[in-house]
Amino acid sequence: MATNQLFDNHGRPISYLRLAVTDRCNLRCFYCMPEEGIKYLPKKELLTFEEIEKLVTMLAQMGITKIRLTGGEPFVRTDLMQLIRKIVQIEGIKDVHLTTNGILTGQHIPELKQLGIASVNLSLDTLDRDRFKMITRRDEFVKTRETLQSLLDHKIPVKINTVVMDGKNIQDINSLVELTKEQNVSVRFIEEMPFNGEGNHYASLTWTYKKILEHIQKEFPDIQKIQDEENSTAYHYKVPGFKGNVGIIAAFSRTFCGSCNRIRITAQGVLKTCLYDDGVLNIRDLLRAGLGDAEVKAQLLMAFSSRPKDGFEAEQNRKFHSVSESMSTIGG
Ligand code: SAM
Ligand code: SF4
Repeated sequence: MATNQLFDNHGRPISYLRLAVTDRCNLRCFYCMPEEGIKYLPKKELLTFEEIEKLVTMLAQMGITKIRLTGGEPFVRTDLMQLIRKIVQIEGIKDVHLTTNGILTGQHIPELKQLGIASVNLSLDTLDRDRFKMITRRDEFVKTRETLQSLLDHKIPVKINTVVMDGKNIQDINSLVELTKEQNVSVRFIEEMPFNGEGNHYASLTWTYKKILEHIQKEFPDIQKIQDEENSTAYHYKVPGFKGNVGIIAAFSRTFCGSCNRIRITAQGVLKTCLYDDGVLNIRDLLRAGLGDAEVKAQLLMAFSSRPKDGFEAEQNRKFHSVSESMSTIGG
């Protein structure tokens, strides 16, 4: 049971952990990794399942109630389901979510349903097989699309994550909105961030959240703003009569930092208290040095009490002053 509600030094509650279980991936999405891939971590550097379980148990005791398993591609990690079975049982963890590209996910959906997974975020940047191949550099559209259908059939809440890329998938924006007509799915358009393992793709961001919305409004002039969930990073909209909804995430413009309730832990156990910082505490090293729970928790609390106020301050404080690592390493 959570003994405390955690707050940071700006009075923001911290209740949501995004944990990367691997930095490896079976796709090479344009916005996330260079074509040749990234230099993967040696396996011994990754947190073990036992370390993850211990860490999540500690964080749940401190006030974390929601966890998202991400990566890299989480299902590339051998026996991921074993970890999920353990995590859903940790006292205090109310919601377990997953972010996946869907390629290896399909066979596990019945068990995910049975385990009570709260929702799955599925990355899908286009509904066109050729453009999928061009963006992800792999011909795996069919498997991702089948996973989407199976998640819907199993009535697992699904959010589609679509990164908006100038010159690559603009023609897909409105078809993806159209998908929400018959399907009870939330399609979230994300501003492209420079976390691609090689630096900025553009001198400045053309497809800002405002431009994405204007583009949708031209095709769907009736689209209406709807209530956003608490601590949501997305602005939500709905076309009247459509079953699903649309979200727009200002990930580059960083408009949501004031209500940010999330922390990240990378695959090698580095704590990030902001997506834009370059890691503030190596928890894996503390665990492997044999520190007791009380000492690890004290160090975590210290990190939470010196959180930057927003992503701009976090970026400014970086030791290397560049935000070019891959989202796959960070844990998107
Ligand atoms: N492999 C899984 C997947 O793709 O869903 C999970 C990891 S991936 C890094 C998590 C999310 O980060 C994906 O939805 C992806 O679209 C998003 N992402 C990756 N690189 C990004 C970037 N440069 N800008 C914005 N979003 C990005
Ligand atoms: Fe892999 Fe996800 Fe990055 Fe695409 S976005 S390369 S699927 S980790």
